[in-house]
Formats: sequence, structure tokens, C-alpha cells
Amino acid sequence: VPELPEVEIYRRYFARHALGQPVASVQVTDRRILHRATVPALRKALVGSSFHHTRRHGKHFFAQADTGWLYLHFGMTGDLHYGAAPKFSRLIITFENDAVLAFEDMRLFGRVGVVRDPDQFIREHRLGPDPLDPTFGAGGFAELLGRRRGAVKSLLMNQRNIAGLGNLWVDEILYQTGVHPRRSVEKIGRTKRQEMFRVMGRILNSAIERQERAASYPKNWLIENRDEGAECRRCGGRITRTVVFGRTTYYCAAHQRG
Ligand SMILES: [Zn+2]
Repeated sequence: VPELPEVEIYRRYFARHALGQPVASVQVTDRRILHRATVPALRKALVGSSFHHTRRHGKHFFAQADTGWLYLHFGMTGDLHYGAAPKFSRLIITFENDAVLAFEDMRLFGRVGVVRDPDQFIREHRLGPDPLDPTFGAGGFAELLGRRRGAVKSLLMNQRNIAGLGNLWVDEILYQTGVHPRRSVEKIGRTKRQEMFRVMGRILNSAIERQERAASYPKNWLIENRDEGAECRRCGGRITRTVVFGRTTYYCAAHQRG
């Protein structure tokens, strides 16, 4: 499932290949992919225009054309291909130089749309701040958590609090900061909340950078040890599997404190 790091990599891929070239045609091969948009509206916004700028907010991607923004959500199996359109392409953009950019999505949980203003989209969908937004700092994060009640894992998974964190990376942040996934956020002090913010940024940036060069994760990250009974590479404890907020959760019962 594409999470924030994958979507950031798609954004960079799109920016590397698809900016500055006039769009010749837009083809939608399965209308179920459309999110509050029609094929004519998509064509009207894109054909004859070029993409100038890309933006990501959480797991949401936007590319600015002359009169609107293309919106993509990668769902569970979304992917971008520049050069040729693979089998499960749902949106195919052909540029005037005959190059093709395809949005592939086998399982059709992704979304394609046209957005007039990403900021308005973010407000309408009541999305919280993006964890890598440079204007969002440790203080803002600590304050945001301070206004909430309940299990820290469910708070971090809620896109209205912070946009873009999914199951894997929330587990990783809690593991690396020694916080039990069910710990009440009221019981996490301000210093710890600020530490969580810094660790979150470090993990996400490192994940983006490693995925971009197809490198593996450090062996002492939870993501490399998500197995019931595996040895914790930080403290020698055991990795435990449980369900929090309906999601499979891995944590170390020895060093992650409730
Ligand atoms: Zn441990």
C-alpha cells in the first residue's frame, strides 16, 4: 500500500518526467477511477496545457496545469509509469512529443480528479498537516497531540490529525520512541511528543531516500522485524503482534511503555 514515502517518490517521478510538456490527449480506461470528475472536465483541464508544479499533502498528489490541478490518490495499488502504459492503466496522458504517462491501478482503490485549489481540497477533506511540511514543527505537533485524548496509535492514524501516516510508519515511530501503541496521549509529556515529531521526520525522510535508491531499511528498524516473537534489535525483547484500532500492530513489549 503506498504510504507517504511512496507517494513522495511518485511525486518526484512525476516532476522529473512530466513537467513542461504540452498534453495532447487524456484517456480514461475505467471511469470508476474518477473522483468527483468527468472525462470532459479532465480533458478540459489538461489537454493543451502543461504541468508546471507538483505538490503532495499526506498521501494526496496534485499536479498543477494551466487552469487546474490533476489530483491522484494511489489507493492500494496505484503506480505511475512514464514511457509505456501497462495493463491496468486507468488514466493515460499522452504528451505532444508522443511520450505517455500512465496511472496504473489494478485494484481500483485509487482516485483521479481535477481540483481547483489543493488548499481548498485539504480544508474540505479536513486533512491535518503533512508531517514533512516545513511550516509544521515539533511545537505544533506537541500542541496538536496535547488537544487530543485516547490511544496514541489511533490518533496518529487519523488523517484529520496528521495526513499521510499509515499503519507501518506509525508502528515504526512508536517503536523507535519507545511508546506503547495503546498508550493514552494524555500520558505522553511534551518533551516526548517533541521527540516523536523529530523521529517521525527522520524516519519518513530516511524511508523516502532509501526507497528512491532501492536500499533496504536499517536492521534495527521495526519494519525489518515485523514478526510475532522476533527478537527486538534494540533491547533483546520480543516483538508482539496485536490489533489496535482494527489494524495489525507490531511492537516490543519490553521497551515500548504503556
Ligand atoms: Zn525492544
